[in-house]
Amino acid sequence: MKVAVNEEEWSEGQLAAIRATAGLFGIRICEYKGTQSEEYCGLISFRGAAWHEALSSPGLLKLLFSPCDEGPPKSERVEFAFSNVPILPAPLRNKRITEFGIAVESLDSSGDEGQILARVGDDPVWMLRNAAVCSEWCVATSAPSLAGKCTLAEIFNGDVLLNLLPLWCYLKTVAGGHDWEAPSLRACLIVDDPNLHRVTYGQIDYPRLVERGRDWGFHSAMATIPMDHWRVSRRAAQLFNDNRDVLSLQVHGNYHRRQELAQYPKAADRLKLAYQSLVNTERYEQKLDFAIDRVMVPPHGVCTPAMFETLGRFPFEALTTSRWAYWNHNLPSDQAVDSFMRPALLADHFFPVVSRYRFKSPVQANECVIAALLGQPIVPYGHHQDFSNDMIDVRAAVDSINALGDVQWMNMSQILQSNFEHRAVGNELHVRPYARQIEIQIPEHVTSLIIHAPPNEQAGSLEVHISNRDEEGHPRKRVDIGETTEWSRAKKLSVIIRDPHVQPGPHRLKRRRIPPLGLFARRLLVEARDRFLSP
Ligand SMILES: [Zn+2]
Repeated sequence: MKVAVNEEEWSEGQLAAIRATAGLFGIRICEYKGTQSEEYCGLISFRGAAWHEALSSPGLLKLLFSPCDEGPPKSERVEFAFSNVPILPAPLRNKRITEFGIAVESLDSSGDEGQILARVGDDPVWMLRNAAVCSEWCVATSAPSLAGKCTLAEIFNGDVLLNLLPLWCYLKTVAGGHDWEAPSLRACLIVDDPNLHRVTYGQIDYPRLVERGRDWGFHSAMATIPMDHWRVSRRAAQLFNDNRDVLSLQVHGNYHRRQELAQYPKAADRLKLAYQSLVNTERYEQKLDFAIDRVMVPPHGVCTPAMFETLGRFPFEALTTSRWAYWNHNLPSDQAVDSFMRPALLADHFFPVVSRYRFKSPVQANECVIAALLGQPIVPYGHHQDFSNDMIDVRAAVDSINALGDVQWMNMSQILQSNFEHRAVGNELHVRPYARQIEIQIPEHVTSLIIHAPPNEQAGSLEVHISNRDEEGHPRKRVDIGETTEWSRAKKLSVIIRDPHVQPGPHRLKRRRIPPLGLFARRLLVEARDRFLSP
């Protein structure tokens, strides 16, 4: 699919942003060569530019930006109110998105036939106009630009998104049925640091959390420190075990050293840390009698590329952190331009990184819309202090997520198992996985399945094993990426994707039964502060 531009109209940064966004949908941006407009599905230009005025053919969809580029002072807040119209992606309908310092002109809507997609105050700022033959998306903002940036996520995040949003929505509409279908809306609220030493942790009271989880409709996962396994309250364990639909546990480093996953320059120390974290997690599980999701939540969010490589060698399902914490040690200039724009980012050894965001933040509503649009798991996070005032901030975050549509709240393992895009073509089901193990429910009419490598992943670097969950013993079948396999009787398939070249982490290392005394004492002091001194 091709979309035309006149390259002279754009700066280098704008062209880079347009090309990169089109790449998300498999659309090519081509210089308009004066050929027939039927060659193109769309064109991107400015309102009033002469070259495209005469261009029209049925089905041609134009995106026309405003030529403005001078923004109001940075302190000025602009609120876009989106209409409830089917042309907009569902998570945007009836929503409000606020951004500071974006330049907006007003669109003249007098005498126009068309739909208003968004307004600022009473003024329309996005419109879909039906011209003689083709239709036009008119936008009152300037085009996005990647000038001085390396990735789209730097211009599409909770703070800034309104420049890129029209382009993203427009290209998604152009791609239409050729686009991959994103995973459904799934969410999990993470709390960093709590343990199960008692049925409370600071401001968090687990029985009340269960009650609220049911009443308000949300699932919360405690990112718990493996070293804390030395004591488990039986009542707390029972409560978690009895309420797995609304409560779960994840792995938060090992000792909870400051920036723990960025602390170890030596490979041997990194291996020991990852191994010890898993061993302690297993010990924790033995006391709890239920499984802890093997999802790593790095202390203070940070993790170095070397540590990603190490964790990727162990059976962790994923890591979750915010973009900004990730960029601390993984510079945007070293990332693919589309990183954080797909259901998960894939680090070395097909190790998924799931984006999360602080729920006690002025941009939490923007963040959950972004995750929903991109098919990413919606993962708000916070600390026990954020649960004060009768959980008023939790309520706000949960309500804005549940207002996005039919959101399923679940634990992170379940989220990862459903983290794949799909496309049905006749009786074939095409699947693009963004997790190491996914579960696929095969629809009635489908007889064959094809697993594809996600963009930026080499097909040869991945190995796929499929087993039929309905068959006794679940025998595994090895298939290649892109290979068609027949599964006429299968209803539920389990697909494991692995990097065959990875050298697995050691299964046995010298186990440390007693943690280093200094780290243990520090953790006790922090826990005492959280439990007894926090407001
Ligand atoms: Zn922490």
